[in-house]
Amino acid sequence: MRVKGVLFDLDGTLWFKGKVIEGANECLDWARKRGLKVRILTNTDTGTGEMLRERLIDDGLDVRPGEIYTPADAALTLVRQNPGKRFHFLVSRRLTSFFEPFSVASPPSDFVVVGDFRDNFSYERLNTAFRHLREGAQLVGLQKGKYLVRADGCYIDTGAFVAALEYASDKTARILGKPEKEFFSGCLAEMGLCADEVVMVGDSVTTDIEGAVRIGAAGILVKTGKYEPGDEARLATLPRWFEVTESVKQVPPVVERGMRAGV
Ligand SMILES: [Mg+2]
Repeated sequence: MRVKGVLFDLDGTLWFKGKVIEGANECLDWARKRGLKVRILTNTDTGTGEMLRERLIDDGLDVRPGEIYTPADAALTLVRQNPGKRFHFLVSRRLTSFFEPFSVASPPSDFVVVGDFRDNFSYERLNTAFRHLREGAQLVGLQKGKYLVRADGCYIDTGAFVAALEYASDKTARILGKPEKEFFSGCLAEMGLCADEVVMVGDSVTTDIEGAVRIGAAGILVKTGKYEPGDEARLATLPRWFEVTESVKQVPPVVERGMRAGV
């Protein structure tokens, strides 16, 4: 395997319920020392990669500048690719401020971007987004997760609100996060690597491993976080090289073995 980079999922793979998963920092360190490019590809959509990094460092995860790629970073790319277009954002407070220079409050607009707005939720805000859609805007979801798990329990995720707006407006959202091909290719372009030069490591068959399949990358499923026994059997198509392992701790030897075998 000509591995030149490793894409890690964050939640449930490197970090879970506010704590660093055992072996995560050592694995990141191994990859960097091995000369492999590292990116943490997360569907966490409350902030940009740099915003998330501050919190993860506080939690003890050793993440370097520019290593995290979130759907909010992909949204910024979308904004830059569409100069002169009007955007309306239904996102967290922090991202609302971040995107303020590109944002319009009242319809009409060209794009409505929906992300995790748990700290900014109101019926009125949801309905304003709906009115933008009624007046012709395209619906964009930062991601389409159903629920997320935190230390104190489960929370309704962005996907449920995207689905509510799809239902009310009769529109289908364009999704920016995992497992969409566009999300991975945007990150790979930034890394300067091709899909067959990276391995995706994650705990979710439907987002991480499915994403690896879609772009033609190798995949390693870890049995931490959201993983449930038998998840791997749910994959209709396997990545071109696929391994299942206990946790991120075992990833370095698994990748080394793959590299030696020239898979
Ligand atoms: Mg995960």
